[in-house]
Amino acid sequence: MLKKNLQMKQSDLLQISESYGAPTYVYDADLISDQYKRLCSAFAEVEELRLHYAVKANSNLSILKLFNHLGAGLDTVSIQEVQLGIRAGVDPKKIIFTPNGVSIEELEEAVKLGVQINIDNLSILEQFGQKYPDIPVCVRINPHVMAGGNSKISVGHIDSKFGISIHQIPHVLRIVELTDMTINGIHMHTGSDILDIDVFLYATEILFDTAKHFKQLEFLDFGSGFKVSYTQGDIETDIEELGQKLSKRFNDFVQEYGRKLTLAFEPGKFLVSKAGYFLAKVNVVKQTTSTVFASVDSGFNHLIRPMLYGSHHNIENLSNPNGKERYYSVVGYICETDTFGSNRRISEITEGDILVFHNAGAYCFSMASNYNSRFRPAEILWYEGKAHLIRERESFEDLIRLQKEISF
Ligand SMILES: *Cc1c(COP(=O)(O)O)cnc(C)c1O
Repeated sequence: MLKKNLQMKQSDLLQISESYGAPTYVYDADLISDQYKRLCSAFAEVEELRLHYAVKANSNLSILKLFNHLGAGLDTVSIQEVQLGIRAGVDPKKIIFTPNGVSIEELEEAVKLGVQINIDNLSILEQFGQKYPDIPVCVRINPHVMAGGNSKISVGHIDSKFGISIHQIPHVLRIVELTDMTINGIHMHTGSDILDIDVFLYATEILFDTAKHFKQLEFLDFGSGFKVSYTQGDIETDIEELGQKLSKRFNDFVQEYGRKLTLAFEPGKFLVSKAGYFLAKVNVVKQTTSTVFASVDSGFNHLIRPMLYGSHHNIENLSNPNGKERYYSVVGYICETDTFGSNRRISEITEGDILVFHNAGAYCFSMASNYNSRFRPAEILWYEGKAHLIRERESFEDLIRLQKEISF
């Protein structure tokens, strides 16, 4: 089914590269809404479900508007992301602000904007409770569970900087009592890549146990970390299985708790990763003594995940889809080592061909930079069978816009 879908898209993607040039990001709105709906149906048994899309995965305003249109809320990690969400028309009540290591002043700005605050350390919780006892807040706990395989993207383990340790709940309760503040939600985010549903469910038990200490809760937020597949046959979080098991457990807990609760999630990658394609043009094919390099007009300035966390992005040659396959090392044009993939079997590449990188919807453009003084790519949203330009390619003016030149 996936293959068929890609086949269908190849000509559209090639057409987009002809009309808008390369490098360019393309997002398929249908695939985004399919994932959103899939997650909703997996938890259909839960009476009150709220999905907050994690803005940091892809913060283009049109993507935020699409999520608003679908009915999602937003998960934000900076005041700027909050502002983007409000700019996109999202009701502040549907925005949760889950920063880490930010100042009380930044939280105060978020309070003014009317969004749900989520606090992840005791120092700020105490200051906040003293100053704003009437504003209910959520607390982010650290359940000390390793849900994922990669320590660079796992944030729930013992030495993680995220969340308030579950062993410090007595201190949280003391702050709540002394300041008379209200805790309306409990949150955890064990990090990316849930490989084992049972480990995740174990972490949720810790969250349920914690929740029992708080009498005025309105929601329980289970964070995210749903794993998506990067290659054919790669493991993926079984959302349907998770939905079935957790919904039942959640509904039982609501009974036990004796008060209506909303179940919240805040996925980023799951919703947008596969909907994204990155198009880049091959500048040079270079045969060395050990490999054949295909150098594209991009680098880690546009797509850093392979170099940052060794992530795998499938690469195909759109210009010659049925050619003879050969082994290539696909690299960028940045003056650093910037290998997108080694020993990849790709249809024979000729200079000028357009390559497509898959799984390019999450943490790709949002991590892009101007390193080597290159322009950041254009972004396109494919919606109702048409390409919509949602961000122009940068220009030289953008590179110098904020610089002040002094004369010598
Ligand atoms: C990054 C992040 C998410 C989204 O994680 P994904 O792996 O993209 O689903 C959710 N919640 C918080 C607090 C985050 O920092």
